[in-house]
Amino acid sequence: MDHTMLIGGEWVAAESGATMAVVSPFDRSSLGTVPKSAREDARKAIDAAREAFDKGPWPRLPPRGRAEVFLKAAQILQERLGSVAELESRNQGKTIKQAADADLPFTIDNLNFYAGAGRTLEAKNPGEFTGDGTTIFRREPVGVVGSVTPWNYPIMMAVWKVAPALIVGNTVVLKPASNTPLTSLELGRVFQDAGLPKGALNVLTGPGAEVGDELCRNPKVDMVSLTGDTATGRKIMEAASGTVKRVQLELGGKAPFVVFEDADLAAAVEGAIVGGFVNGGQDCTAATRLIVHQSLRAKFVQHLLKRVKEIRLGDPLSRSTDLGPLVSLNQQKSVLEFVDKGKSEGAKLLVGGTDAHTRYPKGAFVVPTVFDAVAPDMTIAQREIFGPVLDVLEFSTFDEAIAIANGVDYGLAGSVWTEDVRTALKAANALRFGDVWVNDHLPLGSETPHGGFKQSGFGKDLGTDSLNDYTVVKNIYIDLTGQARKGWHYTVYGDPA
Ligand code: NAD
Repeated sequence: MDHTMLIGGEWVAAESGATMAVVSPFDRSSLGTVPKSAREDARKAIDAAREAFDKGPWPRLPPRGRAEVFLKAAQILQERLGSVAELESRNQGKTIKQAADADLPFTIDNLNFYAGAGRTLEAKNPGEFTGDGTTIFRREPVGVVGSVTPWNYPIMMAVWKVAPALIVGNTVVLKPASNTPLTSLELGRVFQDAGLPKGALNVLTGPGAEVGDELCRNPKVDMVSLTGDTATGRKIMEAASGTVKRVQLELGGKAPFVVFEDADLAAAVEGAIVGGFVNGGQDCTAATRLIVHQSLRAKFVQHLLKRVKEIRLGDPLSRSTDLGPLVSLNQQKSVLEFVDKGKSEGAKLLVGGTDAHTRYPKGAFVVPTVFDAVAPDMTIAQREIFGPVLDVLEFSTFDEAIAIANGVDYGLAGSVWTEDVRTALKAANALRFGDVWVNDHLPLGSETPHGGFKQSGFGKDLGTDSLNDYTVVKNIYIDLTGQARKGWHYTVYGDPA
């Protein structure tokens, strides 16, 4: 099927007629094509969003009106959950149980949440701060927002970007990742069917280096938000600087998972499995660095290996599959190169580290992998691998654990495992990460602000904090004296009255 993209309320091909193939990472079967946009298409989408912001009804609706569209969109997505989850699983490679039972229900909850949250915007009380006039604070939408999203949770990441932007009255050009565009196009259809005015959400498919770059440079765009790699974040900051755009960045991670001496071992092992292998490890919060107290390490590794061997690889559309293929053959190659690097730097490969070529000759699989004896400065302990690879590191003192945990460029998420409340809180306070979990790893709700410290970016997805990112405060001053010459004018010219 040749898919089209959504610009100004119309489903269109690229001006040039160029297309990009979309394939299943499980068996390389074709999932159709999407338009391969160029700068001219991006400009059309930006113009549509600009027109919708400057003249269209969306920013001018009362919050209740926007909430009604969101509630309808959530309901439509709920009705289409089965087919959209299947499409996500086919396109991304994630298991159907994750897509249908976790990603989609959470995405629908996000829409419902923002329908209400958009009605709670507050600014300070107006008042007479100078004595001579009243100042009113207004919180207004930023304008046209370019939202650039990654391939790991395609529809969920799209909603995390688009929902807080739209609900406060911005208009949006959404650019999904090139290899997973299909459910973002579905999201465009859902909003259109829910009655979103034309041009308020445009979904533009095409290469990031060209159309994503146009979103960053075009003066008609007021803000760019990205969820993606830290290297892409740097490029976006640079490209957006020419027009001094607001930038919001949710970037990579290298989450520490610190297991203290008194931790519940069984809980920590379960947590490491789900935290490390969620979405095939293609998760910015994935628990990739298991930093375990030396007294527990041998036992922890023994239990971990037992569980790792139980993970079932297979067709992502089967309900009994725990781990599908990675998103692409490129990603598989990149992960296996990290495995080679780990081996060459002296880490001990305990299990995995291969593709699953004999069983799935066409699938982009990487077998669940565990490295032991990983030193904090090794490449596999520093760089984001984004695949099913766990590193086990060891510590002996609290300070050493915190130093190892914080000793990366990233600061997105981490967890601590202990039965002692003081250790838990001391560690949580000391970790320089935006999300810190105690005795669990991963849980987020629509209400919980999620975003990084350090090179994991800035700004927040989810929660009402995200609404601040997509609004700007204006102060309006109204003179109450009615006098031509105000008391303070002499400070500029003349004498006091
Ligand atoms: P990526 O940075 O390669 O791509 C993200 C998006 O940016 C894509 O749509 C891509 O086309 C676009 N892009 C690429 N170059 C661009 C440019 N020069 N200008 C504008 N846009 C450009 O990331 P990915 O590989 O799709 O996703 C994985 C990354 O996303 C990982 O690093 C992961 O940690 C991160 N991520 C972060 C979060 C978070 O909440 N912090 C969530 C999910 C994923």
